[in-house]
Amino acid sequence: METKELKEKLFMARPNVYDDLSEEARAEMNDFSAKYMRFIDIAKTEREAVIEGIKMLEEAGFKSFEFGDKIEKGGKYYYNNRGKALIAFAIGSENVEKGIRISVAHVDSPRIDLKQCPVYEDGNMGFFKTHYYGGIKKYQWTAIPLALHGVVYRADGSVVDVCIGEDENDPVFYINDLLPHLAKNQMGKTLAEGITGEGLNILIGSEPYSDKDADQRIKLHMLKLLNEKYGITEADFLSAELTCVPADKAREIGFDRSLIGGYGHDDRVCAYPALRALLDHPNPEHTLMTILADKEEIGSNGNTGMECIIFVDIITEIANALGANERLVRRNSKCLSADVNAAYDPNFAEVYERNNSSFINRGVVLTKYTGSRGKGGTSDASAEFVGFVRSIFDREGVIWQSGELGKVDQGGGGTVAMYVAEKDIDVVDLGVPVISMHAPWEVIAKADLYMTYKAFSVFNK
Ligand code: MN
Ligand code: MN
Repeated sequence: METKELKEKLFMARPNVYDDLSEEARAEMNDFSAKYMRFIDIAKTEREAVIEGIKMLEEAGFKSFEFGDKIEKGGKYYYNNRGKALIAFAIGSENVEKGIRISVAHVDSPRIDLKQCPVYEDGNMGFFKTHYYGGIKKYQWTAIPLALHGVVYRADGSVVDVCIGEDENDPVFYINDLLPHLAKNQMGKTLAEGITGEGLNILIGSEPYSDKDADQRIKLHMLKLLNEKYGITEADFLSAELTCVPADKAREIGFDRSLIGGYGHDDRVCAYPALRALLDHPNPEHTLMTILADKEEIGSNGNTGMECIIFVDIITEIANALGANERLVRRNSKCLSADVNAAYDPNFAEVYERNNSSFINRGVVLTKYTGSRGKGGTSDASAEFVGFVRSIFDREGVIWQSGELGKVDQGGGGTVAMYVAEKDIDVVDLGVPVISMHAPWEVIAKADLYMTYKAFSVFNK
């Protein structure tokens, strides 16, 4: 055998999605990318993702489900968990004891949350105090335009939805940074210490209230404006969830427009294709479930995170309604835990191990295990299950790659896979490679997004 043939036979192929992309597939990829960009512009927080997700589900004929409601074969339902997480499911034609095909992604992203008593003034400026959400490099969030999103529950029980900074006529908000001329001490600090958590204060205005004799005139003016617009007082911040996210919209990057820059690709770049793969599969054979989870970025805790028992309760409801053994349903279920991975970046090559890193344009990444320091905090999918997923991807022409997060002992990270695995469900991590993960603006490739959509689609088939 020629060396070339032998290599082709024995070496693993690492194709680029563009190597074998038909014109038809390219058009579909571009169309899918445009719709994805629209989704992430509208749905910047988990609450907004749930609202937009419900719109998409209802357009596709899914109905709101409450515990106790009837579940029928061929039925399509969604469960809105407290406005922050969504569980959508479609009952397939086969016996549900053969298991459910579950896709789970998260719709919360790193951001700057307001503290409960946020408003103050100092140095002739008004500010909000904040407590950042998720793992961020704090210095990246200064000196960029920010938008304010969230809800306020007033004392009378009524709710106000807030969204300021997304319309081009809206004002935006800002976190101050230090001018380089006076940054001698700051520049000597580490990146972790140059901007502190308590330094992430949001600039919200500067004009004082008109009464020259009043105390705290800027704070008073800001609260007056908020009261006029939303009918809220300082105490109402106590029962609010307000957050600042980058005010920018998603944009194509590069001369060839092959990349997408945007806020919070992690993990809406998996959530959107997971949802679309459910909607685009009208009469499933398997029972399908897509979960858009909250709280992943802070550990999946809380009753809207994947540690909550809710998705098991829904599986129980489905099993009971169809006269199936619930334990058997879970036992035979299969799950794609969909989350982003770190794309190999030649600018930071030292933290990656090339042989086991994911690369831009090599398609959806399959990650057998995550975790850190000796696989701590991972579910580590079985060889059998990885083999199953691999075989359907290869059979159906999904371009995929294997990748772990970076070099051993360099750091690491976890996903929701372990919370699914502990319910006796086979699960493996899969997702889109991302550049600059957790930065205010992250980068992904259209080709990888498209292959991730294909991956969910063939998994559901
Ligand atoms: Mn994630
Ligand atoms: Mn993340």
